[in-house]
Amino acid sequence: MKTCKLLIVGAGAAGISAALAAWDAGCRDILLVDRASQPGGILPQCLHDGFGLAKYGKELTGPEYVMRLMEKLNRTDIVFLPKTEVLSVSGDQSAVLSRRGVVERLYFGQMILASGCREKNIGALCIGGTRPAGIFTAGQAQERINLRHQDLGDEIVILGSGDLGMIMARRFTQEGRHVIAVLEQEAHYGGMARNYHRCIEKYSIPLHCRRTVREIHGKGRVCGVTVEALDSGEREYVTCDTLITALGLIPERELVRGLEDREWLFLAGNCSRVHDLVDSAVAEAERIGRMAGRRLSV
Ligand SMILES: Cc1cc2nc3c(=O)[nH]c(=O)nc-3n(C[C@H](O)[C@H](O)[C@H](O)COP(=O)(O)OP(=O)(O)OC[C@H]3O[C@@H](n4cnc5c(N)ncnc54)[C@H](O)[C@@H]3O)c2cc1C
Repeated sequence: MKTCKLLIVGAGAAGISAALAAWDAGCRDILLVDRASQPGGILPQCLHDGFGLAKYGKELTGPEYVMRLMEKLNRTDIVFLPKTEVLSVSGDQSAVLSRRGVVERLYFGQMILASGCREKNIGALCIGGTRPAGIFTAGQAQERINLRHQDLGDEIVILGSGDLGMIMARRFTQEGRHVIAVLEQEAHYGGMARNYHRCIEKYSIPLHCRRTVREIHGKGRVCGVTVEALDSGEREYVTCDTLITALGLIPERELVRGLEDREWLFLAGNCSRVHDLVDSAVAEAERIGRMAGRRLSV
């Protein structure tokens, strides 16, 4: 029977940090798994700097931040298994893992869920029209541009001015694409002031508040969107070939639905609540990791 003392699901910043803290607290049988082929979660696709000011006193890129965590992890005997997905978790303190086509059950003493969050997609809004090619969530677009070097389009409309929307507006502009506008339903941009100044203001990207997309046009490919001014109700057709949705993030914790009250289960990082800053996700994960580690080291 496969067992471990501490199972950590998700090797993003939170999962790795929780593992390191549990190790420092004395726990010596830790299994860290991630369905991705590399550690770091969302960070490897975040090529911009802005990570780590509180923890490291300087602004790192996402990959640099992961490298620092991995350097520490590699000095421990924590077992990290990439390409390993946790398919389910049961009340008898077991989880079903899938790795390289093999599905097996693992029993654990404690578990830390650090599975991050997912993006709200266009289905979360009642937008009329068609659903042609050329619609991406901001996270999908970031992964395709930064890691797969794909060309997504030339004339871009971004719906949502949270941090992800603003960061992607800058990214498309840096890539030589035309960001026609970032649209925001509220009266003010949604993300951090820092990102507004660095991404929107600095690159003179138009930000239109109290606006939304009412309809998407196009058959094979997006050819335009109908934009509505929410205060006047006025509508305008905007020609574009790409629509990026940045509608917010939802903590990803379906795996443990119904088990939230178990004393062997902890949540850390963005699956617990969405953290704007990686340092905040890490600080929470370190606290959780220490707690779980202390319990298991006695
Ligand atoms: C686009 C973007 C830009 C950002 N910019 C900044 C910034 O400039 N500065 C800053 O400080 N912060 C920034 N943040 C915030 C910061 O990156 C996050 O708060 C932090 O990285 C979240 O870490 P996490 O470990 O909780 O989640 P994630 O990084 O999402 O990691 C979760 C991991 O869990 C794995 N997983 C999920 N389910 C399973 C399963 N069933 N089995 C196995 N593995 C599973 C996933 O594959 C993933 O690797 C940004 C976030 C985003 C999305």
